[in-house]
Amino acid sequence: MAKEKCVGHCGIKLSKPKKLGGLSFQNIQLFNKALFAKQSWRIITHPQCLLARVLQGKYCRKESFLTVKAAGGCSHGWRGVLSARDLTESKVGKTIGAGNSTRVWSDALIKAETISTPYGPAKEEDRDLYVSDLFIRNTTNWNTQKFYELFPTQAKDILRMRPSKMGANDMIIWTPLASGIYSKKSVYFEAANADPITTPKLQRVGALPLREILQRRGLLADTFTCSHCGEAETTAHVFIHCRFTKRIWKALPLSKPTDPDKLDSFEQAIANSGMICLPPSGVSIDLFPWLSWCIWIVRNSLIFEKLDLNPEDIVCKSLRLAREWQEAQPLKVIQPSNHLQSRTAIDQEAVICQTDAAWKPKNGDMGFGWIFLDSTGQTLEQGSSTEPYVASALMAETITIREALLHARMFHYSKICIRSDNHVLIKALNSKQRPVEIYGLTLDIETLSSLQFFFIPKSLNYPPDKLAKSALCNSNSALP
Ligand SMILES: [Zn+2]
Repeated sequence: MAKEKCVGHCGIKLSKPKKLGGLSFQNIQLFNKALFAKQSWRIITHPQCLLARVLQGKYCRKESFLTVKAAGGCSHGWRGVLSARDLTESKVGKTIGAGNSTRVWSDALIKAETISTPYGPAKEEDRDLYVSDLFIRNTTNWNTQKFYELFPTQAKDILRMRPSKMGANDMIIWTPLASGIYSKKSVYFEAANADPITTPKLQRVGALPLREILQRRGLLADTFTCSHCGEAETTAHVFIHCRFTKRIWKALPLSKPTDPDKLDSFEQAIANSGMICLPPSGVSIDLFPWLSWCIWIVRNSLIFEKLDLNPEDIVCKSLRLAREWQEAQPLKVIQPSNHLQSRTAIDQEAVICQTDAAWKPKNGDMGFGWIFLDSTGQTLEQGSSTEPYVASALMAETITIREALLHARMFHYSKICIRSDNHVLIKALNSKQRPVEIYGLTLDIETLSSLQFFFIPKSLNYPPDKLAKSALCNSNSALP
């Protein structure tokens, strides 16, 4: 098929995602690997499911799934799962809920983007230590001293993790994504990233058979010139700088016209591509791959068949191919908008809770404040406090909401309407997404009360903001 042909004869890594300098064409081998990786992920995260039990019963009797090697005579499918396992395994981590199922010495602890395990060897009595054993007895507060013994250089960073106070389970996560949720698209990206060159054929050809390259290899005796204008035929010339190509670029119905003279190379054109067409063209995806393909086809027709097309015809052909591709793609399911929730009316019986946090990135200290109001706006209760070792502003805002809700329980408020000026957090709480960084905290919030979450602008959130800032200010050096 045309697409495969294109992949085979081009020097550019067409199947790599755009971020990695390709054109995002799907490579069937990588796609296959991503499918196998899904099975591998399932075996790691759900070892009790039927598929995992059957496969492990057959192939992992002597060794665990993570260490077993492909035995002679095993099925093609199992080999595929094992090859994908090596890709999956390095990206699997754990995020801490209540720390009851994560072992300190054998499971990687996740804090933001890095994976940490303590320095070894483990003392005999510490071998089976769980993360929850690092709490001060009968609390969910870290035992700081123990931390500094086990993680002398990383203690400060790890202390910034916030475990669940309500007993949430630890969760296996996919570390390349901040959400921790595994996705086939992300695996495909990781596979492409790990795969230096996409196809063996590509490895051999290495570049488009342009005249300049053919002559350099001694395959062409003539002078290497462009069939359109007589200038040297390089990749940048054919696709960007040729007089003829510039006429094509000029005829494109783009919402933001691109000036080819500002592009130095084809690689730069790929990196900057994002050719979005005006609505009447009916093309809503990036036109660049189809444009490049048509320029290449026309160049070949001119050399081998003496057929020429005018720039307008090439533009029409590119648009037609892009439209056909677009129509062949499965429809995306549109998720209900988060704005819907923010438009829902406030429950009149609910107590309003406004929260805000002040956070110092330099030392990780935070101050926070919360105010409970009745439906007429009268203050019912308010409070403020401080905490050390906070990793980010998002974490600070989340801690504030959890602390406010723990107080709400003491006051026996059953329905609460939370108002915060942190848009990211309100969106995450409304959509039940649990970013890895605040996983334990968000689970606690979900279990605490009957809740509604609303965003309010900072200008309307002055009272808790003042409480938070003065708490942080008063604490001064009182924090450890
Ligand atoms: Zn030319």
